Amino acid sequence: MRFETKAIHAGLDIHNPSKSIVPPISPSTIYEIDAEGRDESDLHYTRLGNPNRLQFEHLIATLEGGEAAAAFSSGIAAGMAILQSLHPGDHIIIPEDVYAGNRKMVKKIMTGWGLESSFIDMTDLVNIEKHIKPNTKLIWIETPSNPLMRITDIQAVTTLANQHGLKTVADNTWPTPVNQLPLELGVDIVLHSTSKYFGGHSDILGGALVAKKDDEWFERIKLIQKMGGAVPSPQDCWMLSRSTRSLAYRMKGHNEHAEKIAHFLSDYAKISRVIYPGLPSHPGHEIAKKQMKGFGGMVSFQVDADQKEAIAIVGRSKLIKRATSLGGVESTWEHRQSSEGEGSVTPENLIRMSVGLEHPDDLIEDLTHALG
Ligand SMILES: *Cc1c(COP(=O)(O)O)cnc(C)c1O
Repeated sequence: MRFETKAIHAGLDIHNPSKSIVPPISPSTIYEIDAEGRDESDLHYTRLGNPNRLQFEHLIATLEGGEAAAAFSSGIAAGMAILQSLHPGDHIIIPEDVYAGNRKMVKKIMTGWGLESSFIDMTDLVNIEKHIKPNTKLIWIETPSNPLMRITDIQAVTTLANQHGLKTVADNTWPTPVNQLPLELGVDIVLHSTSKYFGGHSDILGGALVAKKDDEWFERIKLIQKMGGAVPSPQDCWMLSRSTRSLAYRMKGHNEHAEKIAHFLSDYAKISRVIYPGLPSHPGHEIAKKQMKGFGGMVSFQVDADQKEAIAIVGRSKLIKRATSLGGVESTWEHRQSSEGEGSVTPENLIRMSVGLEHPDDLIEDLTHALG
């Protein structure tokens, strides 16, 4: 079956005894134990598992091409479970421009717990290899990165990781499995903030991990999911399975509109640089073409002005909402450095836009007005 079909049907394949076309939401926190006693595989208590979570986990695992998935209450909680599965004294390699929340999680929480980390430029394979130490356990990939949209060659990094016996994780939140399938390129675990394109309507907070192999490492991660307890509610899982049904078509729209906006901005005099992996001018364009089917809905650009003017431009939009986050049907943008705060490596004149599904001509009119 093809992606679009799986996205619509895979969530119904399991734990739907009533055969309803749309599975019901199961709010019950507890499940009756058989008279003969409890079987390990039975549903027992909702933190450990419930029908809606199992449906969504099955759905996202199917779409990413993994053996198993674990859903979390946020993308950050999913990332935290990866780090907690390591041991104090272990070392990780992670992009210097990694999603800002993940940088804070590593530096402000996990460093105190004994995790060592190197935040580096991951576009250069020689640089990655140089940072591998005897205690390195994991390479964290985020491509395109956020908000500089640097492209990492996933296949090259997983080959290097295999040579050194290291695990790899890829944050696939921005591209989604519609545009990029890291597990096919040798990655061990894919990470998602499902708050973004999976939810798709800016109304769900969630995260997920999908493992290529349901191995010992993923068993430990599932233990952290269940015992750490950062799990999504049955309602949120049901909503996620519902919005995932239209993921393929929403992403086609996001890809198409973002490409139009990127070209429009490239021709605009006041803009010094447009960062979109679909543009031939992007330094990672050739690698992006090799590993992505579409270039996504995010566009970053630098205005030919200072921080004050960049903030003023964002302030002038009428249709494009000023908000952080991304992946909704509505377009949003922000002055990214202000949003990231301490430790940000984002240039002061950079604006990041999440291109939505409005008619692109309406977006271009609003951009023309705001840019002045
Ligand atoms: C938003 C985001 C996260 C964090 O997810 P939350 O659901 O906000 O906790 C992680 N990685 C990327 C790339 C993101 O955009």
